[in-house]
Formats: sequence, C-alpha cells, structure tokens
Amino acid sequence: MSRQHLLLRELGLAPRWRLRHGVAPEPVLTPVLAPVAANLVPAAAPVVPAVAAPVVVPAVAAVPAPAVVEAAATALPEWAALQQQVASCTACGLCQTRTQAVFGKGNPRARIMLVGEAPGAEEDKQGLPFVGKAGQLLDNMLAAIGLSQDDVFIANVLKCRPPGNRNPAVDEMAACADYLRWQIAHVQPEVLVTLGRFAAHALLQSDAAIGALRRETHQYQGIPLFVTFHPAYLLRSPGEKAKAWQDLLAIRRALAKKA
Ligand code: SF4
Repeated sequence: MSRQHLLLRELGLAPRWRLRHGVAPEPVLTPVLAPVAANLVPAAAPVVPAVAAPVVVPAVAAVPAPAVVEAAATALPEWAALQQQVASCTACGLCQTRTQAVFGKGNPRARIMLVGEAPGAEEDKQGLPFVGKAGQLLDNMLAAIGLSQDDVFIANVLKCRPPGNRNPAVDEMAACADYLRWQIAHVQPEVLVTLGRFAAHALLQSDAAIGALRRETHQYQGIPLFVTFHPAYLLRSPGEKAKAWQDLLAIRRALAKKA
C-alpha cells in the first residue's frame, strides 16, 4: 500500500472521495522506508507547546516590490555566505542558549518553499528543521501530493531555538527577519506555504486566525502563499488533518498550473 494511500486512510478519506473530488491517480512513490502509520500516531508530548493566549507577532521586515527584489538580488549574500552568517549570528539573545542555528534544508532552487516557526529541541540538536515526529508527518504530507524533500526548501522564521520551545518573542522575530527574506529571494519559489500561525502572521503581516487565513490564497511579493497547519499541531489535533489535506490539494493545483 502506498504512503499516499495510507495517509488518505489516516485522514479518513476513502479512494471514492478522491474520485469525487477529481484527485489524480496516486503518483509513483519511492518504497516506504518505515510504516507510515507509525508516523501518524499522535506524539505523547507535543513538539510545540499549546499557546494559551494570542500573541502579537511582528511582520517580517518589509520586502521591496518584486522588480526591486530582482534588481537588488546581486546585493544578496551568496547562499554559502548566508549560511555562515546565520551559523555565527548573535543578533538576538537566542544565540546564548542554542546548540546551533538551524538554517534550513532541501533544494535551494525548489519550486515550493515551506516556512515554519522555530527549531525545537531535536532540530537544535541536529541542526535541521522538521525532524522527529512532526518532520515525519510533514514528509508524509508532501509525499501525498507527489513531493519529496528534494522538491522543497524548508526554513523557519527563527533560526535558533527559543528555550523550552516557548513562543518566539517580538524582538527575536524582528532580529531574524532578514534571513528569511533573503532565503525567499534566493530560492525564488513558485509557491510559498506557511506552517502554523507564527509563519503566516510574519509573512502576511496579519494576526488573523489560521482558520480564516487558510481559506484563501495570499500573495507574498507576487508569490502565491498558502497557509496551513503546523504538523506538530496536527499531531496534537488529528481531527484537523482532513482540512490539511484540502490545503495540500490546493497547493498541488497551484503547482500544476505553473508547471
Ligand atoms: S534567532 Fe535569528 S537573529 Fe537570533 S541569534 Fe539566531 S539567527 Fe540570529
């Protein structure tokens, strides 16, 4: 049974549902390395803590209009220089508590770029974003629409772990904003996807609820931007997986239109 089929089954979406919604036949996927079902079991302890109250999230620093971005691209740090800059950054207090900065992973020329919130404990240890159970679920979600990690670039709004996985602070997000802006300018994705409310709020300069934001396609400097749930949230709230699947289908349609 393919990973996609298992995910659909996990989401409670029978094959007949796919037919009714005009979903294309399953893509040929690489052999399953581990039982998908195991990846979809809700984690005993959430990777990202629940948020008790709304937090005002600062917008990512204003980005020039598309034409200006293009003209200014030569002034961007080279990719390797940018990685080094992040690795040695001391622009906010998180540099004192991190094990290492987490730059991102995937294809720097990917068609789709995913943006999460901040590294957790395991990401801080490994130096990679989205590892552990939330990362496995994200991999399965991407596989369900025929994408592998090589097809995407994944980064976080914050490059260093907030101690105890607390929410990012306003000054930390402001200090780190340029790195994400430069990453987007380098990758030049055809589609942006934010995972969770912090990333959505940062890129859209909005404090609206995820439930409202995910129902429409946004634009970030001319790039279509989709809002969906953070995989860690889906592990805690499996009832929302069907909505996440709808978001994935919208993302796949957007990519297909641009192919
Ligand atoms: S979170 Fe961002 S701004 Fe703060 S130290 Fe890490 S890389 Fe620098």
